[in-house]
Amino acid sequence: MSGRGATFQRLSFGETQDGHPVDLYVLTNKHGMIAKVMTYGAIVTELHAPDRSGRFGDIVLGFEDLEGYLGRHPYFGAVIGRVANRIARGKFKLDGIEYKLATNDGPNHLHGGLKGFDKVLWQAEPALSRNGSGVKFSYLSHDDEEGYPGNLSVAVTYTLTEDNELRIEYVAKTDKATPVNLTNHSYFNLAGAEHPDILGHELSVAADHFTPVDNALIPTGEITPVEHTPLDFRNSRTVGARLRELPGGYDHNFVLNRSRKELASAAHVYEPTTGRCMEILTTEPGIQFYSGNFLDGSFKGKKGAVYGKHQGFCLEAQHFPDSVNHPNFPSIILRPSETYTQTTIHRFSTR
Ligand code: BGC
Repeated sequence: MSGRGATFQRLSFGETQDGHPVDLYVLTNKHGMIAKVMTYGAIVTELHAPDRSGRFGDIVLGFEDLEGYLGRHPYFGAVIGRVANRIARGKFKLDGIEYKLATNDGPNHLHGGLKGFDKVLWQAEPALSRNGSGVKFSYLSHDDEEGYPGNLSVAVTYTLTEDNELRIEYVAKTDKATPVNLTNHSYFNLAGAEHPDILGHELSVAADHFTPVDNALIPTGEITPVEHTPLDFRNSRTVGARLRELPGGYDHNFVLNRSRKELASAAHVYEPTTGRCMEILTTEPGIQFYSGNFLDGSFKGKKGAVYGKHQGFCLEAQHFPDSVNHPNFPSIILRPSETYTQTTIHRFSTR
């Protein structure tokens, strides 16, 4: 299928362990960018962007085949839900009821639990629009799944636009009040996914504050200025410049400078050797910058690359971690009368 230079193709990508077919959707635009996304985990498996001389490279970490994604891995490319990042002790109270979630990160709940949205099969349908070619993934998360209340219907649409953007739009509805905090967990390396580290990437984040965490990466509840800390990315600097001042590297939620929900620029990354740039715009109040600290060489990725520490970074547009236990953080509670929406755009260019 095609329109205005954009093309759309569906390929078979194998089967899950219990025999369900998995499809891979290949989106292209008139500039030759390619995004590949699959029905398992609504995962972005490949993203090909040009460098300053027009040479294309795959800039997201991941595996060659479905096998890799079905095994244990740190959420490469996946949609995260029902609630991204950590919930302390897997517990929260809502409307006077205490809920107990699945725990999968020591005593805490991480990225949706044992079987989060990254490990489920999504229904897919083409979503061609005047912006470009896209695919809409839908999933019904049932009441009590991983301990969460309410049946939640979720749709995530990926569009590769003619302006070299990967646009991600999320919509969700529930039949009982429930927390919802969705994100995408792609690991980027703008030099190319096989490049050994991201320490030379230049990053800026539109955030004057961040949410400090304890040793288990649970927010303390404070909202602290980035000034005089290694988290000061208000002006662009390399990821590596002050990374060693932090125990494992960056794994922090930045409080974006905004007073209302609007689609606005949140972060910008520039890779000097290839000239590739990625700007992230989002409607969310926060963004998690994770410098791939737990990549330890145990994942054999695409083109035989063995992903080591800091080989990729994530910039996860989201609400703040453990929001359900911090009344001073923006609420992530969705009620049946409301609709959850989120838009995040990854805009690519070179310089
Ligand atoms: C978290 C990390 C976690 C990683 C999973 C990130 O979003 O902030 O703490 O280890 O996801 O691979």
